[in-house]
Amino acid sequence: KSAQIVVVGAGYGGATAAKYLRLLSNNTAQVTLIEPNAQFISCPMSNLVVGGSRQIAEITSPYAGLEKNHGVKMVKDSVASIDATKKTVLLASGKTVKYDKLVLSPGIGLMMESIEGLDAANKAGVTLQAWKAGPETVALHKQIADMKDGGVYALSIPMAPYRCPPGPYERVCQVANYLKKHKPKSKVLVLDANQDVTSKGKLFKEAWAKMYPGIIEYRPEHNVTAVDAKTRTLKFDVQDDIKADVLNVLPLMRAGDLVVKAGLADANGRWSTVNYLNFESTKAKDVHIIGDSIQVAPLMPKSGHMANQHAKVTAAAIVAELAGIAINPQPVLTNTCYSFVNESEVVHVASVHQYVAAEKTFKTVAGSGGLSTAPTALEGTYAWGWAKNIWSDALV
Ligand code: FAD
Repeated sequence: KSAQIVVVGAGYGGATAAKYLRLLSNNTAQVTLIEPNAQFISCPMSNLVVGGSRQIAEITSPYAGLEKNHGVKMVKDSVASIDATKKTVLLASGKTVKYDKLVLSPGIGLMMESIEGLDAANKAGVTLQAWKAGPETVALHKQIADMKDGGVYALSIPMAPYRCPPGPYERVCQVANYLKKHKPKSKVLVLDANQDVTSKGKLFKEAWAKMYPGIIEYRPEHNVTAVDAKTRTLKFDVQDDIKADVLNVLPLMRAGDLVVKAGLADANGRWSTVNYLNFESTKAKDVHIIGDSIQVAPLMPKSGHMANQHAKVTAAAIVAELAGIAINPQPVLTNTCYSFVNESEVVHVASVHQYVAAEKTFKTVAGSGGLSTAPTALEGTYAWGWAKNIWSDALV
């Protein structure tokens, strides 16, 4: 009987893992992919939807290819809990699914409780995150489009590590690009809990000064502690309160809720520790965790590109193990993150991460990777090429 592999979450990590488990096993492994959403909506490129230069349909792809082209069994449901002893997962619908190997790629969890009043402000429709692409992405654009000219959009950024280091800085470019054209008296306030811009700092700051002078204002070391929904006010550790018309508040992040609930996160309840050779959890045998949920090696970003790479290393290791083939993996992972500074011009950061057996971790390869020198439209073309390729790699 062939092995049953259950993959949870059909995002950047999970969809890629499911496809490559089928490909690398010559379609012999039975792969079930559990995902509540009907379609794949990409976080990469979603800041363009927030800024209004693209539509959500342009970043949405069907899941049909995984079933039709690769024989992955898709189950539209979500996993409520895991029994790692019985090797079963319980679905929200009440069904139980057995596994020989489990791959978890549920993305991030938002620590709403880390900011007083945030949950209530979200429920009242006053704050939102749009840090998981979908209806909130569209809702955030609408709030910005409905804002009066002369209004303030505030984005608060939590302490790193969080999903997509350059993502918040790209987002403020997109919002400023929209406001510059449509509501030029408005302001973008960037309230960053970190000491400085955590990714492509020089490039973003140059773009803000050159393209959005008087619109974007960057304030480091601003750690939001509370939100007052009634008065649309943010409160901080140290600084004075700030009022804004659109409140895009990002709390601290951790592994996807399922991972935390299953007791697979570290002692702080944040990220999961895995063996980087096969991404097996250090806490549960035959449970592999990939993507944003894991404790990444130093200088590894939480990105879709990385999740795609984790998925391939994991699929190869699982297929080899199930087939009883001894392999000596020496994984080398690459990453490129493109950021749009307006609707067409882009900067990138790239890196190469090599597994170092003696230290059981990944280290960046000396002299690899790098940064753009300035935004260009040519890199905008590359960015769309990257997106279309990685969507196709995961889903078609
Ligand atoms: P996801 O892709 O989020 O997938 C998780 C999936 O699991 C979801 O489909 C979810 O519905 C499902 N799920 C969750 N819980 C359950 C459950 N209990 N049962 C079943 N299913 C479940 N990365 C880049 O490489 N390049 C970029 O340019 C880039 N830009 C970004 C811009 C923004 C604004 C943001 C927010 C992120 C960006 N990222 C980018 C980061 C990238 O989106 C993430 O790193 C990537 O999505 C991580 O993949 P993942 O598989 O861990 O999670």
